[in-house]
Amino acid sequence: MTIGILGGGQLARMIGLAGIPFGLQFVVFDPAEQVGGSAIGRHVRASYDDEDALIEFAGSVDVATYEFENVPVHAVSVVEQHCKVLPEKTALHETQDRLRENQLFNRLDIATPRFCVVDSRQDLTNAVETLGYPIVLKTRSGGYDGKGQVVIRSEDSVESGWIESAQDNLLAEEFVPFDREVSIVAARRPSGETVYYDIAENVHRGGILRTSFNRPGDPIQGLAIEYVNRLFDELGYFGVIALECFQVGDSLLANEYAPRVHNTGHWTIEGAEASQFENHVRAVLDIPLGSTASRGYSAMLNCIGALPDRDLCLRVPGVHFHSYDKSARPGRKVGHVTVRADSPADLERRISLLPDFFSGAGDAL
Ligand code: AMP
Repeated sequence: MTIGILGGGQLARMIGLAGIPFGLQFVVFDPAEQVGGSAIGRHVRASYDDEDALIEFAGSVDVATYEFENVPVHAVSVVEQHCKVLPEKTALHETQDRLRENQLFNRLDIATPRFCVVDSRQDLTNAVETLGYPIVLKTRSGGYDGKGQVVIRSEDSVESGWIESAQDNLLAEEFVPFDREVSIVAARRPSGETVYYDIAENVHRGGILRTSFNRPGDPIQGLAIEYVNRLFDELGYFGVIALECFQVGDSLLANEYAPRVHNTGHWTIEGAEASQFENHVRAVLDIPLGSTASRGYSAMLNCIGALPDRDLCLRVPGVHFHSYDKSARPGRKVGHVTVRADSPADLERRISLLPDFFSGAGDAL
């Protein structure tokens, strides 16, 4: 049995690493010359516009999935004429425009930050009047890891913020003074079974995820499950999904969902009975899903721009090291480290033993 993955980065690689023990084969499709996903199977290197290559790819797999949300919908339309694709492309379409995504949330009675569409300088003036300061200007499509985002904190920075922005096809959002950021990763398979991981508490800096901690027994878990179920139902969704939210008091404001395995679920590789990657494979094959139960307490620390000294990390008990085999570049996620422990106190102690590369990583404990 062969699974095809549109996108060949580290997420494809980790899906493959989870599926190989099941005796599965993988093919990854990615326009880039060198991809980490080539470690798990054949790499079809072609553009997402190349119909012949997409058809050849689809013909060589039993089922296809994707590992990033900006896969062009038309590419999925081509592939699905030749093999099953899960999750279905509606989930991609809805999330590829932040306006459409926020409208979807609101239709499902899932609260979001207040927002306005901005396509001109006048729209920005109106948005500031409606939302007040501070606001975040975001590109409606194509942004990731905080790219394409500008925070405008006061009247003084409206003009410079506007110049820095793309000046078209933007969304202005109120800047939410959140208590914390949380996400829920969940999986559903076509036979109907649904499983949910413990929520993760996430810390971003400069728009990029730095750390995720699993939070077993968290009081907000029930609401997060309710929201993600509404998405599953509305989108007719099968596979792993992640929903990222801002928590304010007892409420959650949805920021975005990812129709794929997610960085805030990487802790599940060692920190849960079955990882998000394994459950994504199980969901797209429609075979029984694995237990999402946490194995104690985990912290996932991203390696941004460079990798720390591997051997220094591995000296610390409970540490698991993941290199994505990517060239180092500022702001690029090139690996992660997961620290696991049986108690929060042990977790804190183990994090404190990590090399200085991760200094401050335990702050969200
Ligand atoms: P995004 O690309 O929308 O996931 O944003 C990346 C990060 O920027 C989020 O995880 C937050 O830390 C921050 N951020 C984005 N939008 C807002 C907002 N409306 N209010 C406060 N922080 C935000």
